[in-house]
Amino acid sequence: MKFIDEYRDAVAVRRFARAIARITTREWALMEICGGQTHAIVKYGVDELLPPQIELLHGPGCPVCVTPVELIDKAIEIAARPNVIFTSFGDMLRVPGTSGDLLSAKARGGEVRIVYSPLDALKLAQANPDREVVFFAVGFETTAPANAMAVFQAAQQGVTNFSILVSHVLVPPAIEAILGAPGNRVQGFLAAGHVCAVVGYEEYYPLAEKYHVPFVVTGFEPLDILQGVYMVVRQLESGRAEVENQYVRCVQREGNRAAQELVRAVFEVVPRKWRGIGEIPYSGLGLRAPYAAFDAELRFDLGDYHAEESADCISGEVLQGKQKPFECPAFGTLCTPEHPLGATMDSSEGACAAYYRYRRREVAHG
Ligand code: SF4
Repeated sequence: MKFIDEYRDAVAVRRFARAIARITTREWALMEICGGQTHAIVKYGVDELLPPQIELLHGPGCPVCVTPVELIDKAIEIAARPNVIFTSFGDMLRVPGTSGDLLSAKARGGEVRIVYSPLDALKLAQANPDREVVFFAVGFETTAPANAMAVFQAAQQGVTNFSILVSHVLVPPAIEAILGAPGNRVQGFLAAGHVCAVVGYEEYYPLAEKYHVPFVVTGFEPLDILQGVYMVVRQLESGRAEVENQYVRCVQREGNRAAQELVRAVFEVVPRKWRGIGEIPYSGLGLRAPYAAFDAELRFDLGDYHAEESADCISGEVLQGKQKPFECPAFGTLCTPEHPLGATMDSSEGACAAYYRYRRREVAHG
């Protein structure tokens, strides 16, 4: 398949792996941000092709994984209200809240539906004018334009029974939190190609300069990732800390200006709590005042929630690259995809799910 097969070509993959080995003279710890990249690395064994001096740390770029417990609890409460149709992408339905998940709310009689786009949820609201339709707007910069479009269209068309429960997070503030944390080990980043396709990569220049770490915008196929690693290692070995773009077939430096303008018109930057990590300043999006009528938290008067995370779950450490999933005592025993204790096991993009699916032997071997 064009644009897939050539990026999974085994001969080219081995050639790049050998090229990385040739230029590596010491130990380096790199982080891939995105859960999609983590899955590709674990699925294709990309990390096992690298020289032993290079360690890949898995970052917090799984939106389902970082949605705080409190927001899951709020979603469950809204879904339980009569007259509500609660809509979401399928991967949010089994994320554990304090007591249960959206699937269990559905089993108790709540009307919870899977949709494939926020615009589908908007259509549902237009088709059911006597019901309140809520969409769970979760994601990084990649999903923000579609969610902004749904709210924008609802406002334009005077739809008054549609709202969104917002859990939008932003990548650069999370990277800065990781780089500024005591004991940080990350020396270079593979930046997520799809995020940069929307927002570009200008925001990484000040981070590269301030922390003296290289960034390479990287795609999602095995060859993309190996080339991204090669470009980061080449910079590290020569003492450079620059921003480069491996994913040139999709990403331009300035990103998608039209999408950015729409997001800026509907959302503003706010502080956000990240599951397992805590609050990060300026790390999320919330609806601007003119669109407050579409804010489900205000519409349903939910107030403040406080929730404790499972004491057995170390997903905060996993999300910051400090521990690998198989280092969690619950991995594969108390915590499995069928009975996840944390979102990194439940989410299809979570690092724990990736290791469980492709590296189960590491449970048995400790
Ligand atoms: S294996 Fe389960 S309990 Fe352990 S960190 Fe991952 S999600 Fe949390």
